[in-house]
Parts: sequence; structure tokens; C-alpha cells
Amino acid sequence: MTTRRDFIKSVPAMGAAFAIAGRVYLDDAPARAQGAAPLEGHFHPKGKPPSRFTLELLKKAKGTLPFSDTRDIEEQKKGFIAPMKELKIRADAGHVAWDMERFQFLDAEEEFDSIHPSLHRQSKLNNNYGLYEVIPGIYQVRGFDLSDISFVRGKTGWIVFDPLVSGEVVRAAWELFREHVGEGLPVSAIIYSHTHGDHWGGVRGIVDEQDVRSGKIPVIAPIDFMEFTISENVYAGNAMNRRLFYQYGLLLPASPYGYVGQGLGQAVSAGASGLIAPNRYVEKPIEEFEVDGIRMVFQNTPNTEAPREMNTYIPDMKALWMAENVTSTLHNI
Ligand SMILES: [Zn+2]
Repeated sequence: MTTRRDFIKSVPAMGAAFAIAGRVYLDDAPARAQGAAPLEGHFHPKGKPPSRFTLELLKKAKGTLPFSDTRDIEEQKKGFIAPMKELKIRADAGHVAWDMERFQFLDAEEEFDSIHPSLHRQSKLNNNYGLYEVIPGIYQVRGFDLSDISFVRGKTGWIVFDPLVSGEVVRAAWELFREHVGEGLPVSAIIYSHTHGDHWGGVRGIVDEQDVRSGKIPVIAPIDFMEFTISENVYAGNAMNRRLFYQYGLLLPASPYGYVGQGLGQAVSAGASGLIAPNRYVEKPIEEFEVDGIRMVFQNTPNTEAPREMNTYIPDMKALWMAENVTSTLHNI
């Protein structure tokens, strides 16, 4: 009899697009949404203006929330190195995998009477699209997906934290990074902070599976990562996908009357997603070991933001990576 565990071990890698953590999809709907074609039928492309109840509610929010606190805006600008110039990133299959053009309307006006001021502010922050230095030795490419990808300088190369949702956007992020910072060094390790697909789905865009299987490139994840990744994304995949369309209104056109963003990021990229199974697990509650010559302390945090998630502390850089155990945006409701 094949147990669930055996089954999971027998699927060490999955190519092609598949359901991911309530965020991705089994069909081409997000690709169509990314294409931003005006929807036909009973959806009017412009939606409809806000009712007086909405107007009242948003006015109240504007008056009571602390918009004079602009620390997020200042902090976001810190360490900016270079913007990403291309607003669209193509998928290998030919469609648009990532489209920032459709969110430019957010910066065109100070405020919209149809968008909650907090969501507008958050989405404007998410419109920042490019390469940033977090501290010397740690860089982030932001705005290429729902999540951000980070690069930490190891002894021989770059340790990649959380390679986004699809391979094409990861490749574009890696190219931007290499153009400005990369020092011509390769990827030396990958770390998946947790089981949600926006933290591993693009791994195939940056590493060759053979190099992982041979052990040349360590891929590190919290204990039971595969079991919970498969449970959420495959066994529960269809239900999660359906919820996704209601949760984010993915099929609405991006506009002041339609789709504005997802809080964490503007959208989910629509390129090719796949998984490469980790070849090293953090098994104990807290473990310390070196990754490409850099001392790291891993802390398992099961059943927090994801069923399996972990924090990483890099003592010599005084840097703490908590993935989505800490975010400054409304999340996962
Ligand atoms: Zn998550």
C-alpha cells in the first residue's frame, strides 16, 4: 500500500503550472486577467461608481486613519538601486506573465473615491518595482510577483530566499540583480521559508534540478515541507483555487472600479510554476548551520502563517528573515 508519505516522496518534483496555496490556479484565468482585456458580458469595464454608503465609509476612513504617518513610504525607498524598466514580463508560453502597466493608474491621482485609502496607499507602495539593498550583502527584488525575492551574499555565490511564483519572473529578477549587483557569482543555495507557492513556485527559473538532486545546491525548507505543500496545493487545490477568485476578484479589470491589488503585492504572476523538492530540512525547533559559509539560525514556526514556516537569523549580519510571520499589510483573511 502506498502511504501518503510514500506518495509525496515519489513526487520529488512537479513541473508545469498547478495549484498553489490558494493563490494560483489550474487554468489560464490569471493569464487572461494579466492581459487586462476589457471583460465582456455583464461586467462593464469601468465597473460602477461607489454608492453613497461607500463614499461615506471611505470618507470616514480618510478622516480617522493615521495617514500623516509616512514611515512605510520612507522605509520603502531606502536602499533603492535600480528600477525594472520593462513593465511587462513575458511567459515562455507567449502570454504576459507579469504586467505592471495596468497598475500605473494608481499613481495618476492623489485619491480615488472608489478605493479604500489604505488599499490605495498599500498598492502605491507595491507599485515600486525594482532592485533594493536591504543592508550590505542582502538585496531584494520587489514588485515582480505577490512576494519578494531576496539574495544574500554567501562565500561562493548568492543564497536565494523564496523564489516567487513562476520561473519567468524569477529569471527577470535574477537578471536585474546580476546587472547591478551580482558580481558574476552563481546561485549557491535556496531557502524556502514556507509552504505557500509564492515562496517556491519560480525555483525552476533560477536553479537546475540536477544540481539540487546531486547535492551541489542545497535547497533548505522547514520540516514536513513536502507533505504540507502537497496537502494544501494538490489535495485541497481546487477548493483553494475557487476561493481565490472571490478572495481577490482576480478576473476584474485593474481599475479604480475593479481590481486594485492583493495587499501583499499587486498580483500573482502567471508564468510556469513548479517545485523542486528540498534536499535539506530544518528538523528541530531551532537549528544552526552554515549555508555557503554563512552562519544561519533557523527556527521552525509550525501552524503560523502557513502550516510549515520558519524564521532565519543571520547573526553575523544581524539580519532576521521572518517571511510572512511578519508583514505590514492586511493578510490572509
Ligand atoms: Zn504565506
